[in-house]
Amino acid sequence: MISVAVNGYGTIGKRVADAIVKQPDMRLIGVVKTSPNYEALMAHRKGIKIYVPQQSIKKFDEAGIPIAGTVEELIKTADIVVDATPNGVGAQYKSIYQQLQKNAIFQGGEKAEVADVSFSALCNYNEALNKKYIRVVSCNTTALLRTICTMGRVGKVEKVRATIVRRAADPKEVKKGPINSLIPDPATVPSHHAKDVNSVIKNLDIATMAVIAPTTLMHMHFLNITLKDKIEKKDVFSVLENTPRIVLVSSKYDVEATAELVEIARDLKRERNDIPEVMIFSDSIYVKDNEIMLMYAVHQESIVVPENIDAIRASMGARSAEESIRITNSSLGILG
Ligand code: NAD
Repeated sequence: MISVAVNGYGTIGKRVADAIVKQPDMRLIGVVKTSPNYEALMAHRKGIKIYVPQQSIKKFDEAGIPIAGTVEELIKTADIVVDATPNGVGAQYKSIYQQLQKNAIFQGGEKAEVADVSFSALCNYNEALNKKYIRVVSCNTTALLRTICTMGRVGKVEKVRATIVRRAADPKEVKKGPINSLIPDPATVPSHHAKDVNSVIKNLDIATMAVIAPTTLMHMHFLNITLKDKIEKKDVFSVLENTPRIVLVSSKYDVEATAELVEIARDLKRERNDIPEVMIFSDSIYVKDNEIMLMYAVHQESIVVPENIDAIRASMGARSAEESIRITNSSLGILG
């Protein structure tokens, strides 16, 4: 059993914590919270052990949320830490992980240099085997890499161009916007996503553009991939249909928008309406000679969850890529 601690129990941390509990080979030993908010209360009610920084002990005491100890005490007893703290905070914690000689998984909000390797399970699991520090790339980059590496099984990928429509905020982020504008982010090309893809596929010719849109549900990508050789549309479909973590949705059933995808997640009674799969609109798939164009939606809050679970196994050298992906998919009920 791998003993896992989760540092930072917000949007990503709480999902990864729940996913760890479902793994047959992992044990969630506790989570770190800094403030005794509703997320801390929920964790306590679920029976999850809460650890806090020294300076937060009094606040938790006053709020009546019991704690199990301090951050250092938790990390000491872990085999590995999943760091899901806000952008840049993970890098500050790295010295503690190093000092206590613990492996750690960082998130995409950290700079690539924080880790030994940036990670996407379908692209470079083997490269991450036994690495002490792994960085799971951001939600947008995870979707780009999952799709690009899958298309790499149809033919050699020569060039990628992508436009990313980013959700403005997560549903719980009440103070973020815009509420009535589209904002190129940045208004220069390429956006940082291309560089992030290159942190995993080093020499890929990729350029990306990004715009923030007033929605909280999902991102949307418009992807254009050029392969070395001519390909057939049926081969693109066949590979996509047979790849885990990618789902094709058809307009035949009136599924044409992110709101409808989230409604399906609700109807399926998925926890928190999560959709960790890349949701490709199958009618958008266009193939001409060696060029593929397609559109897909990305659920920012959950797409990196299976990658975090695989990154834990890779770091601990626990399983092969195929085994880990299979266990993660079946334990989390992931389609594709
Ligand atoms: P979040 O704000 O929802 O959660 C972060 C949690 O860390 C909060 O509970 C906060 O209280 C806690 N925290 C703050 N300072 C801390 C400290 N010093 N020690 C311990 N905990 C602390 O953030 P998030 O959206 O879950 O993002 C976490 C990471 O995941 C970031 O790197 C982000 O870029 C990345 N990520 C986010 C998304 C997304 O859409 N939300 C998607 C993919 C990756």
